[in-house]
Amino acid sequence: MSKRDFYEILGASRDASADDLKKAFRKLAMQHHPDRNPGDKSAEQKFRELNEAYDVLKDEQKRAAYDRFGHAAFEQGGGGRPGGGAGGGGFEFNFGSGGFADIFDEMFGDFMGGRRGGSAAGRGADLRYNMEITLEDAYRGRQSTIRVASLASCEACSGSGAERGAKPIACTTCRGHGKVRTQQGFFTVERACPNCGGRGQTIDKPCRTCDGEGRSRRERTLNVSIPAGVDDGTRIRLAGEGEAGSRGGPTGDLYIFLSVTPHNLFKRDGNDLHVRVPIPMTTAALGGTIEVPSVDGSRSKVNIPPGTQSSHGFRLRSKGMAILRGQGRGDLFVEAVVETPVNLTKRQQELLREFEKAGTAEKTSPESAGFFSKVKELWDDLRE
Ligand SMILES: [Zn+2]
Ligand SMILES: [Zn+2]
Repeated sequence: MSKRDFYEILGASRDASADDLKKAFRKLAMQHHPDRNPGDKSAEQKFRELNEAYDVLKDEQKRAAYDRFGHAAFEQGGGGRPGGGAGGGGFEFNFGSGGFADIFDEMFGDFMGGRRGGSAAGRGADLRYNMEITLEDAYRGRQSTIRVASLASCEACSGSGAERGAKPIACTTCRGHGKVRTQQGFFTVERACPNCGGRGQTIDKPCRTCDGEGRSRRERTLNVSIPAGVDDGTRIRLAGEGEAGSRGGPTGDLYIFLSVTPHNLFKRDGNDLHVRVPIPMTTAALGGTIEVPSVDGSRSKVNIPPGTQSSHGFRLRSKGMAILRGQGRGDLFVEAVVETPVNLTKRQQELLREFEKAGTAEKTSPESAGFFSKVKELWDDLRE
């Protein structure tokens, strides 16, 4: 498949400014974001293209390489790659299930406190990862492995942003204190030095691998432990697993947003579960035992008293969801649904007719027999 032009994907001209590109990207990315177009494969495809195009064009060096060599600049092992790259391997674009975290960095980094200003060291952005799990997973809890592509601490300079052999030098603005003082009315206000971001040091020779940023884009594999009892919308915070900070700044956090797919048998209500169980007419009339399933596949026996009606509820204690951050479990509510017999043989029909004749409806079916007298009372009330 031939690749589309990156500028064309963003709907921008070749001489567009970095700002224009950013605006174009944000607008289109919002439009095609998978969260806004659930299940739409073409939107997902567009969103990937956008991400890939912008990932190149937002970076001055990559953009220059692209302008000169086109897509060949980024092909693995291709001859057209410009020298001085990232220690072999070329630029990587990872759009596995974790790839969408990038976009949240781009779009929501501002709100989540991730953006830094100027050349200062800064905290890495928080990342969001959307994970879908089943009700069974939520019932039992599970271990999961996820892949997240994000800015990670640069391996060449261990995140310092300094080229090997280069030494950090005392910041000239704060003279190494990391803090500057300003007079505001009567008060002297101390704040982090804007030049060095409070570190007290700047770097004379920046790391060539990461351009002094102290971080580079990498895909990481993380193990996530999902506790039993999580619900739709539960967030799991993985402290320090977000985007690496720039120039050794603190790492952001990774938030896993869980969504639980609806189950075809069990409905959830907080920590309780509800299930409708059909029971044969004879069991409902004569009484007996039925088996009721649990989410984990086990079964429980429930006693059905004689004369059980449809929609009668039974409660099985502690057979519901585990209580997240608490003890014990919720309950399982079983709703009996009495099944009217179908496909009767001649003999069965005879027996039921005999059954009908053997008693009176007022006695065996008081609800049905008494129904119209109740309706009449209601009509009489209305007439008054
Ligand atoms: Zn580096
Ligand atoms: Zn400083």
